[in-house]
Amino acid sequence: MESKKRIVVIGGSAAGPKAASKARRIDEFAEVTIIQKDPELSMASCGYPYYVGGFFDNRNQLLSTPTGVVRDQKFYLSAKGIKAMVSTEATSINTNEKIVKTKNLITGETADVPYDKLILATGATPNMPPIEGVDLDGITTLQSMKDADYLRNIRDEKKIRKAVIIGGGLIGIETAEALHLAGIDITVIELLPQLLTFLDYGMAKLVENYVRSKTNVITGNGVAKFIGENGKLTAVKLQNGTEIPCELAVIAIGVRPNVKLAKEAGLKIGQLGGIEVDEYMQTSNSDIYAVGDCVELTNLVFNQKVLAPYGDLANLEGRVAGENAVLGNSVKFKGTIQTGICKVFDYNVGSTGLSEDRAKKLGIKVETVINASPDKPGFMDGKLLVSKLIVDDDTCQILGAQCLGPGDVSKQIAIWAMAIQAKMCVEDMINADLPYAPPFSLAIDHSIATAHIMQNKRKKRFEGICAHDLKQLIDNKEDVFLLDLRGYDEFEQMRLGMGETLIPLGQLRTRLNELPENKNKLIVTFCKISLRGYEGALVLKANGYTNVKVLEGGLAAWYYEREK
Ligand SMILES: Cc1cc2nc3c(=O)[nH]c(=O)nc-3n(C[C@H](O)[C@H](O)[C@H](O)COP(=O)(O)OP(=O)(O)OC[C@H]3O[C@@H](n4cnc5c(N)ncnc54)[C@H](O)[C@@H]3O)c2cc1C
Repeated sequence: MESKKRIVVIGGSAAGPKAASKARRIDEFAEVTIIQKDPELSMASCGYPYYVGGFFDNRNQLLSTPTGVVRDQKFYLSAKGIKAMVSTEATSINTNEKIVKTKNLITGETADVPYDKLILATGATPNMPPIEGVDLDGITTLQSMKDADYLRNIRDEKKIRKAVIIGGGLIGIETAEALHLAGIDITVIELLPQLLTFLDYGMAKLVENYVRSKTNVITGNGVAKFIGENGKLTAVKLQNGTEIPCELAVIAIGVRPNVKLAKEAGLKIGQLGGIEVDEYMQTSNSDIYAVGDCVELTNLVFNQKVLAPYGDLANLEGRVAGENAVLGNSVKFKGTIQTGICKVFDYNVGSTGLSEDRAKKLGIKVETVINASPDKPGFMDGKLLVSKLIVDDDTCQILGAQCLGPGDVSKQIAIWAMAIQAKMCVEDMINADLPYAPPFSLAIDHSIATAHIMQNKRKKRFEGICAHDLKQLIDNKEDVFLLDLRGYDEFEQMRLGMGETLIPLGQLRTRLNELPENKNKLIVTFCKISLRGYEGALVLKANGYTNVKVLEGGLAAWYYEREK
């Protein structure tokens, strides 16, 4: 009789339990063991900000199945036949004898766990800035259940009044919202010139303007020092010398893969610091797989290695490694296009594929457009979306998309993510058959309208200008005629205030005499979202104006200050 296969998994949060469960489902008789350093198993870390923010109160919901059963040791043993060793650290791997050495962190007991196939799912550790005062009380990260409990307690106690969030990435912003909801005065501090670096600068600035309506935001400035009294944090000092009083600091400046065990076991580590794996999630040792935040993946758009610490990928990779560990290499995980989404107060922000900024760095020539329009009809409470589409300049293949606003960003990003993975071109999206009814979308969905705008641009039906380029022209006092095509009421409510002329679109054909006599002078047309801007530009072109550009996304995508 064949002996039972011993599958051992190190790490028991996202990728590890998924790998273990898949192995069990494929081989009912395998001996499957999870070694987990933390006391809990299967923590929904992506839910921590919402627990801290009070979206729900029962912490067990972070650890439960969809039917409400807590995924603890008992659950894993009885429901899945998986032995889970919690509060137990894997301290080393002997690859010759195929043994994992473990230490129980409560009793101090050590044990050897033999394996036939080993899966590493050791996750990542938050980066900490190597600066004075970082060990003071009141400084934390939000990476573990312990951190989530600590911050939730702060929320419930209501004693802290001022906090800083260091790092304006996804976790930093989600934490800022959570603590803002707790009534705490928040300052987000970001070293780079923009928040959410997965977005292009202009898109990130639109988010930043919105975040500023809720919290203080400082960009382009880092923390130089933590200041404390009696061991407790009292302020942070920024690199420009400013001191910000605070009683709490949450550090969210990214994570790095946990590779100590892998390194010591002689596994190959990639240039970005993650464990090297192939498409089977197999490491340089054929008996060891690795999954989740501890590995490097291939970016499928530009074919380079990346670190992609996302919960969905960790689960998908886990399934693949679990199956391959049992059956031999049979299923593949080819890579990532780095799709992500986050909630930013009442905004949603997502991106997939290549950004324009990254394309520039990689030397890939791209064309972009911005579309600002609602996700649904006004009578169904449609909400604004601002999307940016990035396509290959030669082939028009869809390479990337970004979307933000109070509307349904998730659907947009999901559509573009599939289009990128299917290597679709703009042409393929023009008449795409998506579901439509007023509660869900416009008759032409925002994504398809975005593709239409790109097609119009490619067919040279309009020439676009982005907010940044227009602002430069204005700042350089270039000779540009700004033409606002909205109505008088709209102009009263909101306007650039940069010397623009207002001619409502309906009056344009009869008021052409108010435009510059020189028909070669640059005219930039716009409205709130630039649909009227586009139509006005067509009227002008038909009447012999040769140098007309449309402000892409209109005022909705203008991230600089306006008069109103
Ligand atoms: C606050 C927050 C919000 C997030 N939001 C999102 C989101 O909205 N969307 C998204 O896609 N992703 C999100 N993520 C990222 C996502 O949670 C991670 O990508 C995912 O948890 C990675 O899973 P993992 O199993 O690789 O690692 P982890 O979840 O980090 O688990 C690794 C486990 O291994 C254990 N371990 C490490 N070393 C050892 C050892 N030597 N012995 C035993 N055990 C060990 C650790 O204690 C840990 O429990 C978020 C993360 C955080 C922290």
